[in-house]
Amino acid sequence: MVAQARAKDLLDWYDRHRRRLPWRALPGEISDPYALWLSEVMLQQTTVTAVIPYFENFLSRWPTVQALASAHLDDVLTQWAGLGYYARARNLHACARVISETLEGSFPDDEEALIRLPGIGSYTAAAIVAIAFDHRAVVVDGNVERVMARLHAVEDPLPQSKPRLKKLADVLTPAKRPGDYAQAVMDLGATVCTPKSPSCVLCPWQKPCAARRLGVAETLPRKLPKKAKPNRKGVCLWLTRPDGAILLRRRPEKGLLGGMMEVPSTPWGDQEWRRQDAHPHAPVTVAPSKWTSLPGLIAHTFTHFHLELHVEAASVTVRRAEAAAEKPDHYWVHLDAMGEHPLPSLMRKVVKHVVKVGY
Ligand code: SF4
Repeated sequence: MVAQARAKDLLDWYDRHRRRLPWRALPGEISDPYALWLSEVMLQQTTVTAVIPYFENFLSRWPTVQALASAHLDDVLTQWAGLGYYARARNLHACARVISETLEGSFPDDEEALIRLPGIGSYTAAAIVAIAFDHRAVVVDGNVERVMARLHAVEDPLPQSKPRLKKLADVLTPAKRPGDYAQAVMDLGATVCTPKSPSCVLCPWQKPCAARRLGVAETLPRKLPKKAKPNRKGVCLWLTRPDGAILLRRRPEKGLLGGMMEVPSTPWGDQEWRRQDAHPHAPVTVAPSKWTSLPGLIAHTFTHFHLELHVEAASVTVRRAEAAAEKPDHYWVHLDAMGEHPLPSLMRKVVKHVVKVGY
């Protein structure tokens, strides 16, 4: 007879092998919902290793949800820079404000109330309820989906199989220690039931695991083939003032890199840009002969497309620089002050590139 997977076996394993993470309470301690929420928002689309320094920095700057709510959004975006998916940082700040201003600084302990807050989806709501409040909730992230797909040898591909995987996760979620259980499945997925080469011999569920028995663990969960990402191209327009300051502008609040600062550029399209077509996109009029084409390209990959940027650079007169500074959301910034502005990774690459080629 095939053994049944039991939450208890996983919890026993977790008691011996749990990871120590800065946002995780020690055995017997109570999780801080604020720290947990912060970590969960940061961990969406990002690895634990990348998140730890950001998490520690945020928590030391803003130790409470009220402190984060009182922060200036630009400071939050600046400290978030490099983590990507900047809508998360804006939602983080908006959510802190709602909790601080309307909920007396306390996180709700039920999923429905949590989902109504900015930036909290069903996964994060369930994780907060289970881990911070130890209430039963079915927490399903990519790790949990992988473990469930393997444990039950689910052959249907993601994302169609999501509802079935959630049901399977629900059946296994215990009423006792649901917070530890949620973290145990996450740890199992992160350290043992890894996407490639799962370490089945170390797994507390090796006996009941159907994928291990059938020898198909590494092939699960199946996924529909990804569409190839299109390539887009653009030209950055690097403008300097006589004292060396560089012109930056703020991107619109909505959309990609919303609210972040950028080196002005042309739109990003499918075609290679001709220099003469790119220059009129500069926020300041510059005579065609004043532009210098910088060597090299800056490559960056977003979720849905690859981008290649070329840089055109020019110096502008004091009079033109003053006119540019009067435009809304345009700022002259010195190189050594770039770190005080919310520049996304792509724009940091652009700055590094220009400094490297020595304009
Ligand atoms: Fe994953 Fe292997 Fe454990 Fe199955 S036995 S859950 S495939 S690590």
